[in-house]
Amino acid sequence: MTARIIDGKALSAAVRAEVAERVEALRAQNVQPGLAVVLVGEDPASQVYVRNKAAACEKAGIHSRVIRMGQDSTEAELLDIIQQLNEDPDIHGILVQLPLPGHMNTAKVIETISAEKDVDGFHVNNAGLLMTGKPLFRPCTPYGVMRMLESENVNIRGAEAVVVGASNIVGKPMALLLLAAGATVTICNSKTRDLGAQTRRADILVVATGRPGMVSGDMVKPGAVVIDVGINRLEDGRLVGDVEFEEARKVAGAITPVPGGVGPMTIAMLLVNTLEAAERSAARLHQAAL
Ligand code: NDP
Repeated sequence: MTARIIDGKALSAAVRAEVAERVEALRAQNVQPGLAVVLVGEDPASQVYVRNKAAACEKAGIHSRVIRMGQDSTEAELLDIIQQLNEDPDIHGILVQLPLPGHMNTAKVIETISAEKDVDGFHVNNAGLLMTGKPLFRPCTPYGVMRMLESENVNIRGAEAVVVGASNIVGKPMALLLLAAGATVTICNSKTRDLGAQTRRADILVVATGRPGMVSGDMVKPGAVVIDVGINRLEDGRLVGDVEFEEARKVAGAITPVPGGVGPMTIAMLLVNTLEAAERSAARLHQAAL
């Protein structure tokens, strides 16, 4: 068997086109969605991510504001900027690019963002809403994965889903979204005793560990849908995922490539979250005016 390749680039383009249409409709009501991205320091990877996010916004008609702060900025300065953005009616989404410099308390910074503008979905209120099945914002990467499964018509209800990786930004919210869609979910972490025994049961296998080649072909159930979230830069410059792609594609039913898989979906879903924040804000204003 050779797996179907799930084309994240093409799906991301389709999602972005949908977003652009809905942005047009909002602009007709004199509301322009706005996203603020705050970048602290000069981490080269973060600089690229921020540039890509701003460019994607502009293409979809979303106003973007990038705020760059020096590596030595204080936490108080950052919190002050976030407070100003919380109160800015032109800004519907606020994203603080992670990781932050070591002298800053990431949890405190995220909790300062207004939950209604937390388009990353990392605020503890939004994590709680997701856990209780009433999500306001779904974290962009797992949300993008769900969109991929939907577009591939993957039957999630009753499926065995295994998520490898349990971070707050990918693994845990991924597991919650799959659970909410009716899957029977297993979450694995670095202490999992026999990882292969878990992954081989998976009809849907999502891998997000940041360990290149961690899942080999013999760890994949024949016909499974394999979603590789990992993005790893090898010493020779190549970008690879966490799954041995060439081996796994011979066993899986469908698989995402790296690059061109989950990565482009993450940005597309950030646009969706920003748009929806702006739509909710417009609806609140409309309600208040009645
Ligand atoms: P973290 O480092 O925060 O979490 C990694 C998780 O993987 C942890 O839960 C860890 O377990 C688990 N893990 C590590 N080693 C093993 C192992 N041998 N067996 C089982 N589990 C293991 O990473 P992130 O969640 O932030 O990111 C994961 C990957 O996804 C990275 O490559 C990152 O670059 C990529 N990524 C891609 C995005 C995209 O848009 N495509 C967006 C975000 C991330 P434990 O909890 O025990 O430590």
